[in-house]
Amino acid sequence: MASDTVKEIEDLIKIISKLPGLGPKSAKRIVLRLIKKREELIKPLTNTLAQVYKNVVRCNICGNLKSTKSNCVCMSKKYDQICVVENLADMFVIENSGIFRGHYHILGGTLPSFESKDSGNGLLIESLVNRVKKNSVKEVILATSASIEGETTAHYISDSLKDTKVKITRLAKGVPVGGEIEFLDDGTLFSAFKNRSPIVSD
Ligand SMILES: [Zn+2]
Repeated sequence: MASDTVKEIEDLIKIISKLPGLGPKSAKRIVLRLIKKREELIKPLTNTLAQVYKNVVRCNICGNLKSTKSNCVCMSKKYDQICVVENLADMFVIENSGIFRGHYHILGGTLPSFESKDSGNGLLIESLVNRVKKNSVKEVILATSASIEGETTAHYISDSLKDTKVKITRLAKGVPVGGEIEFLDDGTLFSAFKNRSPIVSD
């Protein structure tokens, strides 16, 4: 009888194969390893997952992940630049590339491409404006994707920031049209950052 006919194991394989980059085969390998090292792996994993589930939340100011037990990074003293991204995956890519080590603002998506006059569809735009004002931020780097939605969002944001007089820049057009930040290679990302240009609002 194969080990994955045990219901508990089957369920675990199903969950793990939903993780990025993992198919059923690698999920099964992971599960078998977990079971082999139950004291070393399953026990701490169970506890850690429970802690993450209980304590890790999205900050409703900057959109980053934070622990309910401590202040978010966005509450730290002072910063000059904020890099605005659509989602956490984009932030991780930029962070890992080492191009930008400052503060981030994670919108939580993009605006629909058609003109929308409501308050930003639950995106953290108003809190971005507040952060800029409160910290006297000098530059807001818009690193939204080069899709129509990404452009619409960038324009909406620069419009919302008009009164703050902050310098607003947009990643250079080296980003392929429709290109999502998450999937860019470091070289493209680096030149897009380096050659970012100011948005002139009208
Ligand atoms: Zn925050």
